[in-house]
Amino acid sequence: MPASPLDILRRVFGFPSFRGQQAEIIDHVIAGGEALVLMPTGGGKSLCYQIPALCRDGVAIVVSPLIALMQDQVEALRQLGVRAAALNSAASFAEAGRIEGAMRAGGLDLVYVAPERLMTEGFLKLLGACKPALFAIDEAHCVSQWGHDFRPEYLQLGVLHERFPDVPRIALTATADGPTRQDIVERLKLADGRIFVAGLDRPNIRYRVVPKRNAKTQLLDFIARDHKGDAGIVYCMTRAKVEETASWLVAQGLTALPYHAGLATELRQRHQARFIKEDGVTVVATIAFGMGIDKPDVRFVAHLDLPKSLEAYYQETGRAGRDGLAAQAFLIYGAGDAGRMRQLIEGSDTPDRQKRIERQKLDALLGYCETTDCRREVLLRYFGEAHQPCGNCDICSNPAASFDGTEAAQKALSAVYRTGQRFGMGHVIDVLLGGATERIRALGHEQLSTYGIGREHSRRTWQSIFRQLAAIGLLVPDTAGHGGLSLGPDCRAVLKGERRIRLRLDPDERPARERRRERGTLAIAEDGDQTLFQALRARRLALAQAQGVPPYVIFHDSTLVEMARAKPRTTGEFAHLPGVGEAKLARYARDFLAVVAAHSEKRQ
Ligand code: ADP
Ligand code: ZN
Repeated sequence: MPASPLDILRRVFGFPSFRGQQAEIIDHVIAGGEALVLMPTGGGKSLCYQIPALCRDGVAIVVSPLIALMQDQVEALRQLGVRAAALNSAASFAEAGRIEGAMRAGGLDLVYVAPERLMTEGFLKLLGACKPALFAIDEAHCVSQWGHDFRPEYLQLGVLHERFPDVPRIALTATADGPTRQDIVERLKLADGRIFVAGLDRPNIRYRVVPKRNAKTQLLDFIARDHKGDAGIVYCMTRAKVEETASWLVAQGLTALPYHAGLATELRQRHQARFIKEDGVTVVATIAFGMGIDKPDVRFVAHLDLPKSLEAYYQETGRAGRDGLAAQAFLIYGAGDAGRMRQLIEGSDTPDRQKRIERQKLDALLGYCETTDCRREVLLRYFGEAHQPCGNCDICSNPAASFDGTEAAQKALSAVYRTGQRFGMGHVIDVLLGGATERIRALGHEQLSTYGIGREHSRRTWQSIFRQLAAIGLLVPDTAGHGGLSLGPDCRAVLKGERRIRLRLDPDERPARERRRERGTLAIAEDGDQTLFQALRARRLALAQAQGVPPYVIFHDSTLVEMARAKPRTTGEFAHLPGVGEAKLARYARDFLAVVAAHSEKRQ
């Protein structure tokens, strides 16, 4: 009797049970059904075709656009004892010949292949001779021009259906809005298939936004407090800032590497490889970094500048915590950044329609930053999903107080107006606070009726108020880029008291020792376990380096965390750990049991 999907999940992958819709999808495909699977990153898409591949006769063909990802997946499967190979431009002629021979002889369960190779006549003939078990089309959004990552080679894939009408196809993607979804179904001719949609939520990612004061120090505090020794990505807007931030982090004792389009290809590749193959590397990057990286244990994604849009933000932060363990998305948000982005839009010569869309996107992004509601709720609502307050974002764990800001707004707007709508926030706040700066004296601004009328708030609070007024368009920075503020078109109603507005009260920074400790990334309660965890990690790294593979293909962090907690003493106990199947038990139990044993002795 053939093994059941659950048997395979336990024996090969070492997981006790399926997640979400996995079981249903797998049954559907094993029975020969076709499917489009929409599941967020880290949702567990791979198992949806890997298990059917092992249950059905013949070799499963996996189409994937990114060579690096293929290599990783194949390596991970081999570690599990699964017979897998990748055919792409990185494979030598001889190697390709061997793989094709193995396919003919029925010696492979899964073959990953680049779309352009799959569609060659030679390869299609080979497939005709070796009975494919199924076709999995990964990153299926690449077939759509609506998607952000269109690949013309994907358009050919519709042919598979005609050439191999009896072979089930399963298309998978993490990003597909309505039009893209439609496109995938049409172009891949999947109209008879079932669509499986999992929600977009990434419950293990904790979202946090803080107002920008000194971004670098804020970043360092964040890493030092919550993410010592973790792998992370820091996004900056410009190359210069990437370089500067990376060297600064290095000077503070961290392992940080820059990554941007201005670096030589070779150097970029080296930095990316170190990020993947070492533990605890932080990459500081422009948005060019991240595509095609499948590292499951990225523990944090920090933005020192505003991302381009909420879509971009969700995608970038989605690179954290693919393994399902706790991870954080940390955004440092400055009023100036919002102003600059608005100027870029207004000052560009794109058509009005386009500008309107860009304005809406920016408003959505700023709305997210300034919200007094649960961040997750705001994010998911933007993508069309309802959500309850999540309990795992900064607002949920520390609700922002809001206040009737009408009077403060009136004062701020009048001060901008009285000073001639040409000064930046700093000077206008000086006027509100009744400051005695040289500029105020030189300009005679102490004579203004708004001079000193804002002493009830601190400078910091005023900054927050100005930021929020800019975010909702009541204040508009000049297009020349000098930071001068003028009144937005909707000001009148506020000035006349016809429109009331609510503002959030930014929590003042509390002293360090009062701050609630955020949940530790790995949620390991005892220090002893933490030491053991580090020792296990070191052993994993040594094993990985000896084989030239990334550490996470040996064991994911989640397995090591469990190991540190359960402290197995026998292979029987070791076999119970999640992520330990038969192949890894045979291969690695001895090594890791020795580390656990040495640790226990030391503690006695
Ligand atoms: P995706 O391709 O959807 O981003 P993956 O297939 O890479 O996600 O899976 C994400 C992580 O979840 C991997 O570490 C994988 O081993 C793990 N995983 C998937 N399914 C299960 C399961 N049923 N039980 C435990 N872990 C799982
Ligand atoms: Zn929340």
